[in-house]
Amino acid sequence: MKTDAPIFDPIAFKLTDKQRYLTDLARKVGQESLAPRAAQYDLNASFPAENYVDMFKAGLMGICIPEKHGGHGADILTYAMTAAELGRYCGATALTWNMHVSSTLWTGDLTDDLEMSAEQRTTHEQKRAIHFKRIVEDGAIYSQPFSEGGAAAAGKVAWGTQAIPTNENGGGWIVNGKKIFASLSGHANYYGILCSEVREGEKPSRRNSVYVAVPADADGVSITGEWDPMGMRGTVSRTLHFKDVFVPEEAMLMPRGIYHAAASKWPHMFLTLCPAYMGLMQAAYDFTIKYLRGEYPGLYPVKRRMYPTKQIAVAQMKIMLEQSKALFYQTLSEARPNPSKDQIMRSWVMQYTIMENASEMSQLAIRTCGGQSMLKSLPLERIFRDSRCGALMLPLTAEICLDNLGKFALYERGETDD
Ligand SMILES: Cc1cc2nc3c(=O)[nH]c(=O)nc-3n(C[C@H](O)[C@H](O)[C@H](O)COP(=O)(O)OP(=O)(O)OC[C@H]3O[C@@H](n4cnc5c(N)ncnc54)[C@H](O)[C@@H]3O)c2cc1C
Repeated sequence: MKTDAPIFDPIAFKLTDKQRYLTDLARKVGQESLAPRAAQYDLNASFPAENYVDMFKAGLMGICIPEKHGGHGADILTYAMTAAELGRYCGATALTWNMHVSSTLWTGDLTDDLEMSAEQRTTHEQKRAIHFKRIVEDGAIYSQPFSEGGAAAAGKVAWGTQAIPTNENGGGWIVNGKKIFASLSGHANYYGILCSEVREGEKPSRRNSVYVAVPADADGVSITGEWDPMGMRGTVSRTLHFKDVFVPEEAMLMPRGIYHAAASKWPHMFLTLCPAYMGLMQAAYDFTIKYLRGEYPGLYPVKRRMYPTKQIAVAQMKIMLEQSKALFYQTLSEARPNPSKDQIMRSWVMQYTIMENASEMSQLAIRTCGGQSMLKSLPLERIFRDSRCGALMLPLTAEICLDNLGKFALYERGETDD
């Protein structure tokens, strides 16, 4: 099998040895394992379990776990370029892998970047070692079900899922609530959920958010609902319910108060959904080139590249792809604590651009390649459906990015029209 060219050329994008190694590895796993299985998972709306076995064997599950804990210690940019390579071959696998990897990135590098007392840092180091060991040695899978169907996942109100502290069983919380669109439901070993920690007499507040990993087999955890969506079908994002679930203290993924601080001081943390869609965009382009050249494997070799309208469409696709890649690389290389206003605005521009361009590009690819390209026997039709979901993902839906950008462009902090 001919190996595909990298999305981010190592020389042009000045990749480090680690970045080159991980992106090459993801492309190999993607091309050899993910691509041949993608249609089946999509058809059955089933979780890509075999892909996870292969990704664990390849060492990809610990990509963002610090090296001292047995991982690759990848930063967000390295993760993003690697995830884009996976998304190119199976969007649903890359999107669910994002939920798992983000759990480790947030618990790892990102938390290290934020202010904590020495005692908090020591305790966090002990707690995260438990999570990282499970992942690196035992192959545990973590997910990130935050959405609740209200305004919490958009960052507007406190989490409806509540964690009441308890001293029983060595200490922890009793958790009650519900998470919708819980990707990896029934397949993750731990559900990393955000809850409002509520003590007696207190009202839930975002400041008191706690981020905990609930064991999937804990008493009181259940899953309901059908899963038969238009796209990203392999994510199996059903509804999770927590009824008086005891969650031990060691389940804490970030120290108290750190999620709230991270959301304002490390805003690039919410950009980890884009890479799957960056990969889908590249996949739509790759398909179109092969198809119009009459080189798509398994198809009768008809050339369609000589028509000027198709050449113009491909030129438009290439422009869109390179614009997206440049913005993606630039924005993710700016991820750090306390970014400037300009960097924050660019991060929303990037999220919007990737999510909208992925969808537009796959639409253009279908129009350009023609009727046969939308047959279910070819991947473009799946890429088209998967890429449609990107702009809907909270907390940075395409609409919210537009709202934020407009406000930030026209108002300085604290300014009003009164
Ligand atoms: C394939 C797939 C997989 C997913 N996996 C996960 C997952 O693993 N974890 C997870 O947490 N979520 C996941 N989601 C959920 C996703 O992130 C969104 O929460 C979900 O798509 C929102 O649904 P909705 O648009 O119907 O929400 P709505 O109910 O319409 O919106 C929810 C709330 O967000 C706010 N909101 C919406 N639009 C705006 C706006 N323009 N301006 C201001 N506020 C606004 C509102 O307060 C609204 O009440 C997944 C979604 C999909 C499609």
